[in-house]
Amino acid sequence: MALDPNTLSLTVWGARGSIPAPGPHTLRYGGETTCLEVRAGPHHFLIDCGSGARQCGAALAAEGVTQLDVVFTHTHMDHICGLPFFCSAYDPNVPVSLWAGHISPPEGFKEIVERMMSPPIFPVATSALRNTEFRRFDAGREFTLASGLAIGSVPLNHPGNGCGYRITWAGSTIAVITDHEHGNEAMDDAIAEFVTGADLMIYDAMLLEEEYERYRGWGHSTPQRALALAARAGVATPMMFHHDPARSDDALDTLAADVARQQPGAQVATQGATLHLTRGRLELGPRHAP
Ligand SMILES: [Zn+2]
Ligand SMILES: [Zn+2]
Repeated sequence: MALDPNTLSLTVWGARGSIPAPGPHTLRYGGETTCLEVRAGPHHFLIDCGSGARQCGAALAAEGVTQLDVVFTHTHMDHICGLPFFCSAYDPNVPVSLWAGHISPPEGFKEIVERMMSPPIFPVATSALRNTEFRRFDAGREFTLASGLAIGSVPLNHPGNGCGYRITWAGSTIAVITDHEHGNEAMDDAIAEFVTGADLMIYDAMLLEEEYERYRGWGHSTPQRALALAARAGVATPMMFHHDPARSDDALDTLAADVARQQPGAQVATQGATLHLTRGRLELGPRHAP
């Protein structure tokens, strides 16, 4: 079944932070690290290639994807470790553009990935990523994907920097704010403006409020901050994301009930879920093939 051309959809291929966390305690919310698939009419792109990108790539290859953009929030391992296992990037028939905006020259995006994809760390070099282009933009600017879709970006407060995204399509808006630590007033103000009026906001809620002090400076935020930002910026649905690898399904159930009690509709990201926004109306539904 084809997707409504006015629908903005997002599929969660990985919602975990730091390191994949497979096992009996993560069966329902998933153990793969961050990878989001966004579809907007004819446009189709990914945000991050964490470990969830492996299964995403297999699905895209089976569907016969012909072109792809991937935008990265940053280059920490949990957000790029799936790239060497992302089969579309090796397909000479599929042009893939990899975008990053958090890196300051002279350091380069390709050089960072080359460090990961080089012996003895990994046997396959980036030269094997056929038809793949590394591209940069400045975090804070709007830029246009190879597919032609313009998306907004904002700098995030994270060790080594990070970049958030805002995607608007046919009257629906999704904002993605991970990995980010609240507390820098100027950045928080800019982010609040950036996410204003979003229908759905994916937000770094890795740390519970009582855990935050111990991990201050690690670059992550809390569900309370997600809810406060949503209230301040008029975000309809905040979605907790970048789950701590030790956070069990039961603990995430508790968190889901807690945030929904405080803001009706607030959610916890679940691997495998697809959300459809049609003119701002949110529905859970099946993932449609491109
Ligand atoms: Zn992360
Ligand atoms: Zn990070």
